[in-house]
Amino acid sequence: ATPMSVMVGTGRGASAGVLIRDAEALERFAKVDTLIVDKTGTLTEGKPTLTDVIADGVSEEEVKSLAAALERGSEHPLAEAIVQGAQDAPRLEAEGFEAVTGKGVMGRVESAQIALGNAALMAQIGADTGALAETVERLQNDGKTAMYLARDGAVIGVIAVADRIKETTVDAIRALHGEGLRIIMATGDSQGTAQAVARALEIDEVHAGVSPEDKAALVDKLRKDGASVAMAGDGVNDAPALAAADVGIAMGTGADVAVESAGLTLVKGDLNGIVRARRLAEGVMRNIR
Ligand code: ADP
Ligand code: MG
Repeated sequence: ATPMSVMVGTGRGASAGVLIRDAEALERFAKVDTLIVDKTGTLTEGKPTLTDVIADGVSEEEVKSLAAALERGSEHPLAEAIVQGAQDAPRLEAEGFEAVTGKGVMGRVESAQIALGNAALMAQIGADTGALAETVERLQNDGKTAMYLARDGAVIGVIAVADRIKETTVDAIRALHGEGLRIIMATGDSQGTAQAVARALEIDEVHAGVSPEDKAALVDKLRKDGASVAMAGDGVNDAPALAAADVGIAMGTGADVAVESAGLTLVKGDLNGIVRARRLAEGVMRNIR
């Protein structure tokens, strides 16, 4: 039978804004020593705004129009920023929209093949980033997410968006360090952007440019090395890693599929929920022993 104190713990969790799937999840969470966090939407607001538009051989307006045409089909937090930021540019329609998880988006606009995304997406379609690679690097070192826009396999522009770190993140990371947790960032975003955010937050370790499968593989590796691992994330791209972890933690504001893979769900979607859940888990386990 489930010990009474665990039932009390799960009930108390709900009032602290943490939904706990079952007693085992709470018990495992008390033993966790390593926390992996996704960046976009977890450490940051996940509501970026458009900051830079760079055009090469076309107009800036055209870059915005083409990018927005694709992003209207996407549910990624980056997409909303680009659509919003391109409101003043003429509207174009995309056909055959396709999202490439962890890389970007593709589709046909005015019978040209358009792709918008990171260097990995450009490599996938065989587009040379040469002329704009330095621009992208500079934007990333500012902590921005910069994406290439390609038309029929040639890079014609760069779009950058910036995503603020959540107000609650700094204190929460500090408190979690105080709980003795090692904190690792795993993000599909680029090395430069990831490092800029990690520096600001004193994150212990950074894995950038990782795919959803890489995130799950990282969880497996750490567990094999003897760590007890919790993974916190908000998106479809985090679901495999949430499922692989000792404890998956879904940000309640994120995708349903993340919630389904999670032992803990943070209703408000800020990391302070993890701090509260950790203290709750420790308290409950002390009562049982
Ligand atoms: P994170 O792990 O930080 O949540 P994702 O794995 O969702 O990031 O995305 C990784 C990268 O892929 C983004 O930084 C971006 O460069 C590119 N990307 C993903 N989705 C889109 C999109 N809808 N539009 C443009 N680029 C995208
Ligand atoms: Mg995310």
